[in-house]
Amino acid sequence: HIQMLKSLKGKKTETRAGQTVRLFANIGRPSDMDAVMNNDAEGIGLFRSEFLYLESEDFPSEETQFKAYREVAERMQQKQVVIRTLDIGADKQADYFGLKAEENPALGYRAIRICLTEPEIFKVQLRAILRASAYGNVAIMLPMITSVQEVLDAKAIVEEVKTELDDKHIDFNHDMQVGIMIETPASVIMAEELAAEVDFFSIGTNDLTQYTLACDRQNANLTRFADPHSPAVLRMISMAAEAAHHHDIWCGICGELGADPSLTQTFLNIGIDELSVSPSSILPLRKAILEA
Ligand code: PEP
Ligand code: MG
Repeated sequence: HIQMLKSLKGKKTETRAGQTVRLFANIGRPSDMDAVMNNDAEGIGLFRSEFLYLESEDFPSEETQFKAYREVAERMQQKQVVIRTLDIGADKQADYFGLKAEENPALGYRAIRICLTEPEIFKVQLRAILRASAYGNVAIMLPMITSVQEVLDAKAIVEEVKTELDDKHIDFNHDMQVGIMIETPASVIMAEELAAEVDFFSIGTNDLTQYTLACDRQNANLTRFADPHSPAVLRMISMAAEAAHHHDIWCGICGELGADPSLTQTFLNIGIDELSVSPSSILPLRKAILEA
């Protein structure tokens, strides 16, 4: 079986009918890159940047972040690397942020909400990502979006950072793609308007399942009710993809559900453009797509 999977390295990810899907990897740190290379990922669809923050005693500096992002961008050469901006809070906590304990952390002060409230923290990361964009094919992805206004506010901060870098004659990709995660019901409902403002959607099925079905993703007692195969979740995915294609932007899936081979045909039917999964799932998923 392992030999068979290895023989799929270098193969084009294409169905018998000729439909292609970009098969990307999820990573948390540059050390995951060996697995990415060994499993022949066609890009990085989700770089969970918060690991840089979680593994640190204090805010990681711009330089520390820049080095990590550049290393990944360079190793992928011109393949796309989607770096998700800070998604701290809720299930991902770092003490030095000094976040107050909350009754409902999953519904609390987290991710883009922190970045928009404390732009000085956000700008350090944006500078690091923009600088790394000079070394490969880097894109930025905003987590936990619920409204168009959040996207406009985040993009305004990205523009501020770009102007600062230009003023200092620091190189970066002026056309870097900016996309969002679709992981809240509000973002699905507003998908048409959001698609007009961004370069891509990537569906975070872990949180989208949690918020759609009102089931805490960390509560093991809810497995019977927290079914990501629920028609409610699948319809959400389909609505988001439809809005994306309406606006000629790509739509991927970067939550765990993307790796589920029993849904591969469904995702192909929906027209999902990219599946981003853990490195070890890439070759099994390529097999599923080749046989679809
Ligand atoms: C998701 O929510 O599906 C996702 C990909 O992000 P995370 O699991 O890091 O919240
Ligand atoms: Mg998420």
